[in-house]
Amino acid sequence: MIRENLEAVKKSMADSGRKAGRDPGEVTLIAVSKTKPVSSLGEAYDTGIRDFGENKVQELLDKMQELPSDIRWHMIGHLQRNKVKYIVGKVALIHSVDSLRLAEEISREAMKQKTETDILIEVNVAGESSKYGVSVEEAPVLVSRIAALPAVHIRGLMTIAPFTEDAEENRPYFRRLKQLSVDIRQKNIDNVSMDILSMGMTGDYSVAIEEGATCVRVGTGIFGERRGIEL
Ligand SMILES: *Cc1c(COP(=O)(O)O)cnc(C)c1O
Repeated sequence: MIRENLEAVKKSMADSGRKAGRDPGEVTLIAVSKTKPVSSLGEAYDTGIRDFGENKVQELLDKMQELPSDIRWHMIGHLQRNKVKYIVGKVALIHSVDSLRLAEEISREAMKQKTETDILIEVNVAGESSKYGVSVEEAPVLVSRIAALPAVHIRGLMTIAPFTEDAEENRPYFRRLKQLSVDIRQKNIDNVSMDILSMGMTGDYSVAIEEGATCVRVGTGIFGERRGIEL
């Protein structure tokens, strides 16, 4: 089933890309594998998937140990400062940085390991009180402060749009995040590149791609429904 699901997701990603006049292959599919067994990730891996997203540090580390080392792991969930040391140097990208203190911890740990860590700034575009992320208004100041840290590199922005039955409702939020990344890029801040826009999930990735997403995070659409509550 996973193989068929992946075929379908990739096809509709390509369709949305074409519709928006974008180059095929411009958008990275991150398979969000939280709560799913290693065997399922293995199936996706065997079809060529190399980007996996997890939202819990321990689960990510456990799966990393059991799967091939050419996988790029994405930390997409809320990250506590005391867990930073476990993932720096191991993950390809941390999508969920929303405070200076968290970024400072990442930079400190990366320095210690003589490495650098790529991060995205999580923006709560819709202003939902239940969600993490900085506001659109706060984002530019946070970006310029984090840019001054020695061992983190801001690669772009990330957002989790509201849950909705109608993906069109999220189009304005995706458009707003894209505009924000353009505005920030125009400031030409040292150590900041705005080449990644992480937006779109199972319910709304097509709209996100039309609005400029460079990576989409798809879980249910690949691996099926998850049991219970997570986040
Ligand atoms: C779970 C999760 C996803 C994937 O959600 P689906 O609706 O299952 O595709 C994407 N991004 C984040 C941050 C998540 O926590």
